[in-house]
Amino acid sequence: RSLEETLERLVADVPDFPEPGVGFKDITPLLADHAGFTQVVEALAAPARDTEGAVTVTKVLGMESRGFILGAPAAMQLGVGFVPVRKAGKLPRETHAVSYSLEYGEATLEIHTDAIAPGERVLVIDDVLATGGTAAATIELVERCGGVVVGVSVLLELGFLDPRSKLPGTPVHSLLVS
Ligand code: IMP
Repeated sequence: RSLEETLERLVADVPDFPEPGVGFKDITPLLADHAGFTQVVEALAAPARDTEGAVTVTKVLGMESRGFILGAPAAMQLGVGFVPVRKAGKLPRETHAVSYSLEYGEATLEIHTDAIAPGERVLVIDDVLATGGTAAATIELVERCGGVVVGVSVLLELGFLDPRSKLPGTPVHSLLVS
C-alpha cells in the first residue's frame, strides 16, 4: 500500500476533541497495525539517510509524548540513540528549558543538558506539526546543547496553520500535509 493510503486508513479524524471546534488526529489505529506502523516509522526516519542509505545523524529526538512512540523505533532502525524532550519538571537531572506561547497560556519543554554533545546532528520526530511552536522550541533546545537539527519529520502537517514560518532554515518532512 502507498504511504498515503496507510495514513488515510489508520489515522482517525476525531471532531471536537479535546474541545468543541478542534479536530484531533488519533494515531492509535496506526500504532496497532504492525505493517502500517513499520511503514510509517521507516518513512519518518528516511530523511536521516543519504542517497546511498548511509545514516547522516547521530541522534533521533522525540517530543513528549507521541514523539516518543514514533521516534524511539526510528532511532533503533537507524542505529542511533534516542533523546526525549519532555514537559517541564519531568527530567531528573540538569536541563535546558524553553518556554513558548500556546493559544491559551504557555508551555515549557526541557532537555537534559548532556543529552546531545556539541556538533551532533539530530533528526526531530513528532506526530503532528500544527503551529510549529513545539518544533521551534525543540530546535532551540538542541542548539543550546550545541547540536544541529538537520530535519523535522512529522506524520501530519496542518499546512493551513503555516508551521514552516516558525522553522526558517530547518528542512521539514511531512508524510501528509492537510
Ligand atoms: P504545535 O506546537 O502547535 O505545532 O502543536 C504540535 C504539538 O501538539 C505536537 O506535539 C502534537 O503532538 C500536538 N498536536 C497538535 N494537534 C494535534 C492533533 O490534531 N492530534 C494530535 N496531536 C496534536
